[in-house]
Amino acid sequence: MPLAVGRFVPDGPAIAPAEIIAGAYANTFVPQPYAVITPLRDRDIWYRLNLAEDWNDDRPALLSIADPQGLEVTVYAPPGYAAVTYGIYDTQANNGFTRHALAFVLSRKLKSNTPIYLHVGPERAIPRRVELNHITEARIVDLAHGRLDVLFPAIQLATLLVMLCFFLVMRERMYGYFVGHVLFLVLYELYAFGIGYELPLFDLLAPLQARPAWLAASLAAILLFLFSSVFLDLAQFAPRLNRFLGALCWPLGALAICAAIPKFSPGWWVEDALALILLVAAPLLAVAGVLAWQHGSRRGGFYLCAWIPGLTFVIVRVLQLLLHWPLPVWLEFGLPAAFTFASIVLSFGLADHTLAMRHERDFAHRLAERDALTGALNRRAILARLRATFLHARDSDEPLSLLFLDLDHFKCVNDSHGHRAGDQCLRAVIAPIASELRQGDALGRYGGEEFLVVLPGAAAANAEVVAERIRQRLQEMRMQVSDTHIALTASIGVAALDARMQTPEDLIECADAALYRAKSGGRNLVSTHPGITGALIPEH
Ligand code: GH3
Ligand code: MG
Ligand code: MG
Repeated sequence: MPLAVGRFVPDGPAIAPAEIIAGAYANTFVPQPYAVITPLRDRDIWYRLNLAEDWNDDRPALLSIADPQGLEVTVYAPPGYAAVTYGIYDTQANNGFTRHALAFVLSRKLKSNTPIYLHVGPERAIPRRVELNHITEARIVDLAHGRLDVLFPAIQLATLLVMLCFFLVMRERMYGYFVGHVLFLVLYELYAFGIGYELPLFDLLAPLQARPAWLAASLAAILLFLFSSVFLDLAQFAPRLNRFLGALCWPLGALAICAAIPKFSPGWWVEDALALILLVAAPLLAVAGVLAWQHGSRRGGFYLCAWIPGLTFVIVRVLQLLLHWPLPVWLEFGLPAAFTFASIVLSFGLADHTLAMRHERDFAHRLAERDALTGALNRRAILARLRATFLHARDSDEPLSLLFLDLDHFKCVNDSHGHRAGDQCLRAVIAPIASELRQGDALGRYGGEEFLVVLPGAAAANAEVVAERIRQRLQEMRMQVSDTHIALTASIGVAALDARMQTPEDLIECADAALYRAKSGGRNLVSTHPGITGALIPEH
């Protein structure tokens, strides 16, 4: 129903409502171009609402005033003109509507010539929409608001719980900052848009009026700065920006204290100061994300994707508060929607971080068991593999063989071609040896130019065949160094597990003994430990 709105700002002593209702000031009400009420910071103000036509409906009318943060309104409506006072901090009042708007249920007997009067207490001079609707239509809209009020915090709390688990398990402060940030963001949404004042326990903070929202916003901002610093590694990518954001935490902390303790700050300046800090910090956080992203940080990409909508909404909200723009519905719901989006995307960013850490750990693990020169398993790793395979083979009565390979006259290679060429040769023999192995076999550098090959499931005869193939491959291989070719050969000792062996070292000892025989037999030979077959493979 269209409303004609008139406004009267008394500049003398307080006026009795009865006089206003009696029409004593009828001519002093100034017609307003829009159906909004705009409070004044320092004094009370009166509004008069006239319906465009009589209310001809069986359903009652509902007068609603949007963006009720800080407002306390007394409505005097026909026919009785009884005073009904309502504010969102009034925890006793419950008219069945959410606190997205101050809702007053009026009579069905409204006439166009009998005005409704509103007495509005002092508050930030932001225009607030006034509407008169059928109660059922208003309830449908309000129910949609109520669902969104639950939906956004529910999603944010879900991401918070997941990250809380990560934090408790991994004890990394970054997850802790994220959890704290989302928690205070949710609290901000609850109090800034009214529902906080109607939830059990949360309503205990109602005497603090708008302050819980300011407190939550300050703490959410501090935790966002701390989170951003670690998540984006700002100390490395943007040290000065990092220091500046760190410095901003102090005034924010002071504002949080002022917001929590009314004695420290009687006025609205806490909210103004907070808004100004956020106005400076929001673009800087976006810059931080860009800098990290430019330096190739994947997390920078996640951060930007997560926060660009959120930071944009923060800037618009701050401007709306500072410049006294009316709060549009898209901002009222866009802000929590953007925060929800940010927490979902950042959860993915944190999960990605966890995955990256796992990759780093796996890489470090791989690195720790590799020989730096050849890339084969190092001595510790090949012995560990041999031990595990030895125990398994003995317990399950499966065959196991070990090759002990030593390059022939390797000292001469070093002496004639230099140590560097020797290193190249050591690297070059790995691929041909590995190409003769099956999956599950293991090749490791035992030391110098000596290698162990563990062959699980291979009996002595099979191992001899493998060893012989390796010997031949190396013999055929020619290493090109500068303009000469280096010929390499190897002697290989073969030993297979038998019941008399107690430890893996016994197996190594047998393979070593066989290797010794191969060396003394003339080199470039495969020799099998006599304890197993007693055979010495003839020279090729
Ligand atoms: P044999 O046929 O009896 O095994 O003779 P050999 O010269 O290979 O045996 P010896 O054990 O006397 O010498 C091994 C040589 O391997 C000595 C050392 O210079 C060389 N060597 C050991 N580790 C490395 C390495 O990491 N790089 C290079 N380039 N040479 C190495
Ligand atoms: Mg040797
Ligand atoms: Mg040697």
